[in-house]
Amino acid sequence: MVADYRKPLAPGATLGVLGGGQLGRMFSQAASKMGYKVCVLDPAADSPAAEVSALHIKADFNDQAALTELATVCDAVTTEFENVPANSLRLLQKSIPVSPPPEAVEIAQNRNIEKAFFKQHQLPVNACAAITEVADIAPAITGMSGKAVIKTARFGYDGKGQQVCNSVAEVEAAFKEFGAVECVLEDFVPFDCEVSVVLARDIYGNIETFPVVENQHKYGILDLCIVPARVSEKVITDAQALAAKLATAMNYVGVLAVEMFVCGESLSLNEIAPRPHNSGHYTMDACNYSQFDQQVRALAGLPVGEVVQHQPAIMINLLGDVLLAEGFDWSKLQSVRNAHVHVYGKSEARAGRKMAHVNLLGSDTESLLAQASTFS
Ligand code: AMP
Repeated sequence: MVADYRKPLAPGATLGVLGGGQLGRMFSQAASKMGYKVCVLDPAADSPAAEVSALHIKADFNDQAALTELATVCDAVTTEFENVPANSLRLLQKSIPVSPPPEAVEIAQNRNIEKAFFKQHQLPVNACAAITEVADIAPAITGMSGKAVIKTARFGYDGKGQQVCNSVAEVEAAFKEFGAVECVLEDFVPFDCEVSVVLARDIYGNIETFPVVENQHKYGILDLCIVPARVSEKVITDAQALAAKLATAMNYVGVLAVEMFVCGESLSLNEIAPRPHNSGHYTMDACNYSQFDQQVRALAGLPVGEVVQHQPAIMINLLGDVLLAEGFDWSKLQSVRNAHVHVYGKSEARAGRKMAHVNLLGSDTESLLAQASTFS
């Protein structure tokens, strides 16, 4: 049996979140604005989310006693990362509402399952094949362009666990280097740009799509987001329709991020995240509802809000590298009068670690881009 809402949760109710990172922190801040208490389940003693939340259960994500306690304390539970064990979500679901659905989280946890789901629902995806042993590699490359990307099926993030290859030998070497774990081999997509669509879907089936975001990466990590994306109206409409079709097919509830490649006027799906996404952080300042507001609304059994973007925006990620660089000065950033700086409260800056982000708002994208270029 799956627990359901009798009616939307009123202020004073407690919302649970699995995971204590920056996404959990921003969820918690949005929830507290709306009068909800938040309970974080995370094994770390000092997590960014626990720092700003009323309650913290310090335990692993599959600790049965901790999950039972979470279900007792909370009125509904969500997750801030996709690698939470789906069975933990299923256990919680027996007594309280859980979103997103465990089945959707399971799809997002494995790139091969994800791609099979896209294909099953006739959603556009580039040539790809599952690799579980060396013998799978040569036949998989047949029909691809010659350049391919091998990725571990599970636990890859920010470009980790993936490699661009130009021959069967290179793919074999990378597969072995990854420990011969299950992988996916994807044809290399010569994309013009990358975009993502973040949307929210509520228990009533309403879908609210945020504006399409253009994403630029540096060293495999998201660096800059430009919104609205500099693509045609057709690409905007198609991208939003594609993301909405996917959310409906998964019977999704909560916030979903869908990453896509743009080639000319065509789109193909890259991957999904069953949670708010780094590319949706601009919504915190540029939109009337942020992605975290929508996550709270969907979790509380409320209809998702109608979204409007007030101003063009650029989001810049601040990694540990920037903070550690000589001459870095917070006050320079904080003094920029059209910048909103969001700091995650992580105790230690490390190279590649997401520490904060800046949303720059203005009247036109080109001047924002020129301004952003002075930040790095
Ligand atoms: P992912 O972890 O799948 O989001 O990949 C990280 C980044 O690597 C993407 O945002 C792209 O910039 C690049 N990438 C991933 N897959 C491909 C592909 N099949 N073809 C070209 N570039 C890719």
